[in-house]
Amino acid sequence: MPGPLRDSYNRPIRDLRVSLTDRCNFRCFYCLPHGEPPMAEKEQVLSYEEIEYVCDIFTELGIEKIRLTGGEPMMRRDIEQIIFKLAQLKDKGLKDLALTTNGYFLPHRAHSLKEAGLDRITISLDSLKRDVFKQMTGVDVLDRVMEGIAAAKEAGLDPIKINAVIVRGHNEDEVADFAAFAREHDVKMRFIEFMPLDSGHDWNREDVVSGREIRQRIEERFPLEPLDVARGSETSSRYRFVDGAPGEIGIIAPVTEPFCGACSRIRLTSDGQIRTCLFSTLEHSLRDVIRDGASRAETIDFIESVVMKKEPRHYINDPGFVTLSRSMSFIGG
Ligand code: SAM
Ligand code: SF4
Repeated sequence: MPGPLRDSYNRPIRDLRVSLTDRCNFRCFYCLPHGEPPMAEKEQVLSYEEIEYVCDIFTELGIEKIRLTGGEPMMRRDIEQIIFKLAQLKDKGLKDLALTTNGYFLPHRAHSLKEAGLDRITISLDSLKRDVFKQMTGVDVLDRVMEGIAAAKEAGLDPIKINAVIVRGHNEDEVADFAAFAREHDVKMRFIEFMPLDSGHDWNREDVVSGREIRQRIEERFPLEPLDVARGSETSSRYRFVDGAPGEIGIIAPVTEPFCGACSRIRLTSDGQIRTCLFSTLEHSLRDVIRDGASRAETIDFIESVVMKKEPRHYINDPGFVTLSRSMSFIGG
């Protein structure tokens, strides 16, 4: 019986992020400011059958969490179909099936996602102000995303997580307002440090608002206390409000407080490349392996050998760090 997957540093690999597409209808300046690069040819993109097949193998290898992402995953046609198929893997050991989305398509689709078997949803929301939202995402659709959040809640996709990338000079003054939003709507806010994963290569260390500063800004209004849970491989440090208000705060600080030592993640791009780290400079074509007719056992050998190459850590803070040619939208955030 194969699995659980382990890398060469003995880290168990339990968490798979699957990008369904590198297309996106938003133009977030920290991700895809100038739109998509030339698209992968359609035939290079993994079909739903292929995604289902490899996810079945990954589950056999001990993957417990699958998160669908992109690009904007809801731009992939009939996403409910693949959710339905992947939800069946719960009989084989999958514990959690989640989706990260910009929320644009949720007002009409949140129910069908839930019905298809989605467990949890994370919705990106970078500002509560219409003009800042538009400036950060390139689209003037704050109201629609708010409707999407309400629809997800109504559909029972609880607990809802909200991702906000905090960037100096854009939205750091809204951090405490977001905490107020979490309390009011009983959602889990996730504040993310700006990482050098933007296709425009405009990332600047000075633009990073540190996790520490984010926490301070919240505590000026709402005192926090750490949640009494083991962090394990979680990316965020989690807090609750001291006054017992609903909602939760999570701070994801990969730049100023790297958590690589406990990383349990690998990624699969929409064109079927395994990436062992967000900042990998190498990709490994699982697509070619399965399309060249490898047996299931050979495919397992391939995945295990790729996982052994997982990097010990990222190198954002090293002198000579080179930004990647591929943005977060391609890699799958
Ligand atoms: N389109 C979906 C969305 O925006 O939620 C899913 C894909 S997106 C790449 C996943 C997450 O990555 C989003 O929450 C986004 O804010 C985050 N992200 C993108 N570029 C980033 C960057 N340069 N630094 C930090 N987070 C980033
Ligand atoms: Fe699109 Fe998500 Fe990237 Fe924004 S963060 S451009 S919504 S993929």
